[in-house]
Amino acid sequence: MRYGNLSGRLVLIGDGEVTLDVEKASGGRFGASPQAVYDHWDEFAQWANQVSFDDAEPLEIAKLGAPVPMPRQLLAVGLNYDLHTAEAGLPLSDPPVFTKFVSAITGPYADVPHPGGSTDWEVELVVVIAKKGHKIPRERAWEYVAGLTAGQDLSERELQKAGALPQFNLGKSFTGFCPMGPWVVTPDAVPDKDDLEIETRVNGKVVQHARTGEMLMGVSELIEYLSAVVTLLPGDVIYTGTPAGVGEWFDPPQFLQVGDVIDTAIEGIGCLRNVMVAQTR
Ligand code: ZN
Repeated sequence: MRYGNLSGRLVLIGDGEVTLDVEKASGGRFGASPQAVYDHWDEFAQWANQVSFDDAEPLEIAKLGAPVPMPRQLLAVGLNYDLHTAEAGLPLSDPPVFTKFVSAITGPYADVPHPGGSTDWEVELVVVIAKKGHKIPRERAWEYVAGLTAGQDLSERELQKAGALPQFNLGKSFTGFCPMGPWVVTPDAVPDKDDLEIETRVNGKVVQHARTGEMLMGVSELIEYLSAVVTLLPGDVIYTGTPAGVGEWFDPPQFLQVGDVIDTAIEGIGCLRNVMVAQTR
């Protein structure tokens, strides 16, 4: 099952790229809010898996917004692929955890205002949490996952690393720095939920290419690791870390410029396309 956010309304997305408005198709049983669906996830998923697409409409992709537009918590981890950790010259450890403030979330085809500085790309598999959980054992972790989506963890490296302690949260939270989408795919509907091809292209050139099976902590271990401390809430989002190939470790370093086109692709999910644009005041 795939679902998304079409002009702010929750929709199911069917084969052949058609959409079904959830509130209308359910006769009001489920609301239009893409974020409120996690209040009753199990009932929604059960309904969505048997609903008829007879009244579906063609998908207008330009109207797709971030499928999870306002999670209460957005957790992100760093250094979760060994080649990326190696390119950064850092030792392997439990992944560092940070957030991207949720106002940075934007849609799969949104323009992103360039804040200046050294703005970099990071493709990431994004996990959407279905229900509340604390101290979740890895064996049960997938029961807490609504689905998977694709994300860019855009990062301004100068602010990220300025000062006595790193400023990850600020450097990764400029407006528009958190593209997500194009939709959420339930774990049963991707080829292998633990091993998907993942890629960033900048102006058509492949700069990151890996498989999520290379993650040092896979999705279930990450959920165990994070929920050991944090109570995960319905509709929360986890950015699971980026593979090697970010611009700051190019020789010489390469950063995004106004006009650059970033494609963020994950097998079985889809592809985002975001363009860096000049900042307006
Ligand atoms: Zn990242």
